Amino acid sequence: MKHARGLILGAALAAVALPAFAQSVAIGAMEERLRERGLSGSGSYDILESLTTEVGPRPAGSPAIARAKDWAMAKMTSLGFSNVHAEPYSIWAWFKGVETAEVTDPFPQPMVITGLGGSVATPPGGLEAEIVLFPTFEALASAPANSLTGKIAVLTEHMGPNDSATGYGTANRWRRRGASEAAKRGAVGFMLRSLATNNVRQPHSGAMNYEEGLPKIPAAALSGPDADQLERMARRGKPIKVKFTLLPTYLPQATTWNVVGEIPGSATPDEVVLVSGHMDSWGLGTGAIDDGAGVAITMAAAHLAGERHPRRTIRMVLWGAEETDQAGDAYAKAHAADASKIVIAGESDFGAQHVMYFQTPAGSQDLPAIKTLTEALKPLGVTYNREPSKFGGDDIGHLVSLGVPQLSMRQEGAHYFDIHHSAEDTLDKVDPAEMDKATAVWAATIYALAQSGVDFRKAAPAKP
Ligand SMILES: [Zn+2]
Repeated sequence: MKHARGLILGAALAAVALPAFAQSVAIGAMEERLRERGLSGSGSYDILESLTTEVGPRPAGSPAIARAKDWAMAKMTSLGFSNVHAEPYSIWAWFKGVETAEVTDPFPQPMVITGLGGSVATPPGGLEAEIVLFPTFEALASAPANSLTGKIAVLTEHMGPNDSATGYGTANRWRRRGASEAAKRGAVGFMLRSLATNNVRQPHSGAMNYEEGLPKIPAAALSGPDADQLERMARRGKPIKVKFTLLPTYLPQATTWNVVGEIPGSATPDEVVLVSGHMDSWGLGTGAIDDGAGVAITMAAAHLAGERHPRRTIRMVLWGAEETDQAGDAYAKAHAADASKIVIAGESDFGAQHVMYFQTPAGSQDLPAIKTLTEALKPLGVTYNREPSKFGGDDIGHLVSLGVPQLSMRQEGAHYFDIHHSAEDTLDKVDPAEMDKATAVWAATIYALAQSGVDFRKAAPAKP
């Protein structure tokens, strides 16, 4: 590795010594060609159409994820990837079963819910209790001890727009922690207004966690209109009783796979540019935007970039258990010894819309390869954000802990949380032209990173 690092640094110095215009002509032309090639029909939509139609929903650990694994290996093989293989690992798994809810008193009527990923089951005949509404998570988290004994806690707080103070970054804590905050105060069940940026009668699932040492109570997401309905009922001043039934399957041990394929580097194959998306999804919808799109965009982009034979190896990883937070950890554990070969890693996991901006590791902002790439992406409206990349993707985070530098690619997502984790996450929500734009950006970027000699570990400025 020492030898390889020396080569990388040498190449970087040589690049700096060249006149800037020579750089942009010599390197930028290929990025521009890849950009145009992607825009003219990148193939990513066809990959997504194939995954969502032939496999459908694919919860980690389910029979469907085994079919997704087979699909991924066949697709990468057909696109000419080498070293295509599946890396198995053991996970806990959770799948939806019966999910029903109703108000039983004083205004009996049905409601629409979905279980939160990881929730325990209710008794087979359902769980019925009086509800207590909380307008904010803070109100729930500061409720007095024993104030919810025997009750079902219902959090009706609205998630805010993406990137706002109550956007998903904050709101997903409500979903993850709500049940334990309620159980701590004696509640027997927990529901929250589903985390969504619109108000349709389709609840959104997502992972939840139980705090050690507290009772595990059933937890569900309630559709927005149903949360509104409970608020109106509560204003009438009478106690409200709700009954809900969740009968999921929980397997303490199941198998999933991270599927890998490579395009060997033409000059320095031991240096790896890792790109990825996650093939698992929740059981609702067909996982089109989360994250079939990320799988398809990066797979098509890696294929297009690979056709130009860059110096470094391009490694495509399709994660097999992102939604339950188990894929990146398994990969990092299995590859701790050779993680130093990964020069940079990125993940596409924010839908199927165009890329708005990208970020690279600290110290790399002014390198010729990054400047050239920035110029090549400008016609697509993509900007370079000089803030060093701090989030490459949920699965990438585990590699970052091993010192792997990360690429951050930020997609437009104003409506992402309208459909993410819900039954509405289907192919019809995807615009093929938007996918081509995103794929064009990824293709040019993958090529630039795989062709450059930049050592992002050394690009970081020395600490004073
Ligand atoms: Zn995702």
